Amino acid sequence: MFDALAERVQSAIEKIGRKGRIDQETLNKGLREIKLALLEADVNYKVVSKFINDIKEKALGAEVVKGVNPAQQLVKIVYDELVEALGGEGAKLELKSKPAVILLIGLQGSGKTTTAAKLANYLKKQGKKVLLTSADVYRPAAMLQLKKLGDKIGVPVFLEEDEKDAVKIAKDALKKAKEENYDVLIIDTAGRLHIDEELLEEAKRIKEETNPDEVLFVIDAMTGQESVNIAKAFNEAVGMTGIVLTKMDSDARGGVALSVKGVTGKPIKFAGVGEKIEDFQPFYPDRVASRILG
Ligand code: GDP
Repeated sequence: MFDALAERVQSAIEKIGRKGRIDQETLNKGLREIKLALLEADVNYKVVSKFINDIKEKALGAEVVKGVNPAQQLVKIVYDELVEALGGEGAKLELKSKPAVILLIGLQGSGKTTTAAKLANYLKKQGKKVLLTSADVYRPAAMLQLKKLGDKIGVPVFLEEDEKDAVKIAKDALKKAKEENYDVLIIDTAGRLHIDEELLEEAKRIKEETNPDEVLFVIDAMTGQESVNIAKAFNEAVGMTGIVLTKMDSDARGGVALSVKGVTGKPIKFAGVGEKIEDFQPFYPDRVASRILG
C-alpha cells in the first residue's frame, strides 16, 4: 500500500529540496505535485485541500533553522501533516464496562467477520475472557464462518442460528456475557453491499440495547471514496468510536487510509494486515507516515 503515492511525494520533496532556499514558486510547484499524487491515490478532495494549505502555511511561516536544510524542514512539515491526516497520536480501545461490548459494523466483504475473530484473539492474548456473537441473521454462512474462526482461536461463539431478530441475539449474548463473567463481548453484525435504511436502523437498535464501549466501523483499504462516505453516513446515523482499516497489506493506493479520519472525524484504531488471524495490529499514524516518506 502507498507505493505509488510514496514514490511521488518523495520525488516532489526531493525536487523542492534541491534549491538552497524554498521560495514560493518552488514550493507551489512541489505542492502541486504532492496534491496530484494525493488525488491520484484517491484521497478525498477536501482532505487534500486542507493538507496542502496547511503545508503551505507552515512552510512559508517556518523559521530558517540553523543546520537544517529546507528539504529536511519540509519533510518534517509533510510528515506532521501526514500523521495528522492519519489520526494524530493514534487511538486506543476504550473498554470500561464489564463486560465491555464492541460492536462491529460495515459493508459486506469489508472483512468484518475476520476482524471480529482477529480482535477476539488480540484481546484474549491480553488475558481477557472474550465472547463472540454474530447478529447477521441474513446470512447463515456468516454465523458459521464466525463459529469456525472462534473454534480456531479458542474463543466461544454465542449463536442463535434460527433467530431472525438480530437485536434479540445481541441482547441474549450480552446476558450470557454478564452471567458468565466475560470481560468482552464482540458483536459481528450484518453487512450489505450498499448502505440501506434497514441496516442502519438495525445497527442503531443493537447499539441502543447493548450500550457498547466501542462501535468500530470496518473499512476495506481497497475500496474508494464511496466507502469513506458510507462510513460518514454510518457515523451520522448510528455513531461510532473508531475505525478498523482492513487489507492494509494490499496494493491499495491509500486514499481510504488518508481520508477516513478527515471525513468521519473518527480515528483508525486497528489495521488488518493479512488474511491470517495474527495479521492485526493497532494503527500507528506515525509509522504509516514514515513509510510514505521513505
Ligand atoms: P465480511 O463480509 O465483512 O464479514 O468479510 P470477511 O471477514 O468474510 O472478509 C472478506 C475477505 O477479506 C476474506 O477473504 C478475508 O480473508 C479477507 N480479509 C479480511 N481482512 C483482511 C486483511 O486485513 N488483509 C487481507 N489481505 N484480506 C483480508
